[in-house]
Amino acid sequence: MTQNSAVDPVEAVTSAFADLYGAAPAGVWSSPGRVNLIGEHTDYNNGFVMPLAIPDRVTVAATKTDGRVLRVASAQQTEQVQIDLDKLEPGSVEGWGGYVAGVAWALAAKGASVPGADLYLDGRVPLGAGLSSSAALECAVAVALVELAGLTEPQGLPLAQVAQYAENEYVGAKTGLMDQAASILCTEGHALLFDVLNLSTQQVPFDLDGAGLALMVMDTKVSHSHADGEYNERRESCERAAAALGVDSLRLATVADLDRLTDPLLLKRARHIVTENDRVVAAGEAMGHGDWAAFGRLMDESHTSMRDDFEITCAEIDVTVEVAQANGSVGARMTGGGFGGSAIALVAKEQVEAVGAAVLAAFAERGWNAPVIRTMQPSRGAGRDR
Ligand code: ADP
Ligand code: MG
Repeated sequence: MTQNSAVDPVEAVTSAFADLYGAAPAGVWSSPGRVNLIGEHTDYNNGFVMPLAIPDRVTVAATKTDGRVLRVASAQQTEQVQIDLDKLEPGSVEGWGGYVAGVAWALAAKGASVPGADLYLDGRVPLGAGLSSSAALECAVAVALVELAGLTEPQGLPLAQVAQYAENEYVGAKTGLMDQAASILCTEGHALLFDVLNLSTQQVPFDLDGAGLALMVMDTKVSHSHADGEYNERRESCERAAAALGVDSLRLATVADLDRLTDPLLLKRARHIVTENDRVVAAGEAMGHGDWAAFGRLMDESHTSMRDDFEITCAEIDVTVEVAQANGSVGARMTGGGFGGSAIALVAKEQVEAVGAAVLAAFAERGWNAPVIRTMQPSRGAGRDR
């Protein structure tokens, strides 16, 4: 994997595109990764989530061509991919090119026919770190292809749904709508409170500097191989719990309903989802009031629920969160699908150094590889950069 993160991504893709295809690109588009502040595994239960866009983006330079082929190259991959637009079937393009082919396929399936094009992309969202590089890639390609096709629709939430359709049905990862909605809809300086049942969104101002706070994002660099199977198992458990309760989705269940679940495992899984939805709503209110103590407590409770009831954390993540909490974080929790990836901590600005040092020391003590620790500001969603 090549890294040229010192170079501005718009400049990097523009010059790499020209080198590869022999002319300047018609345009440059990008879309961000995300951290989820609270609301984990709730999206596919029609619940609430509260992500924000991170500064790491996937940037793509592109030009329309006369043919029926997408040629795609990535700064993070050695092979180039050629995608025949007239032979798009789920699974026909494997590997990373599948995310690009999937977006073209999903757009066509929704009646937005895609022209041939040359694309060069450079992704600065770390792959598989729980920060959703896949949705950033899909959404960057989606906004580029829609504009190259001369279309004004789909955009916004319908475009996020196209990208999710690509990931679900073309790539075959049955994820919820949060990642793509965050990548497209998030705005600078805000968290996105998203109600997946009603498809309603609210931009909640998240002024870290004004509150004297920092958002630490700690990538453990761990990705456990059983994650996909576990993810699917959690989805099925939630569906079984909803069926046992006689509701369409766990979004429609309440804490009082949980008593009716006799299977202890389903009870734990459902309890996470039901209480997590309540926590997201409360977190949205706490942020609106600038009640950071309440917001942080909800983050801590969310982590406990993910660890003990939903059982999607792992040792490296739990240690990161516990060390942050022991060193005075306002709140800390895992973010993303789980079994590795990243933890986040909301901390007073002056605590950032101490929390970071303590986490690094805890990893070193256990002989684990050092995590990558950064602070991040809520950033802008998908758009055209040049
Ligand atoms: P996450 O979304 O949590 O980062 P996923 O496994 O869902 O992890 O998606 C990672 C995959 O997305 C990579 O294996 C690769 O196929 C694709 N991908 C992401 N970023 C890039 C990139 N910059 N270039 C090529 N492929 C990428
Ligand atoms: Mg992903």
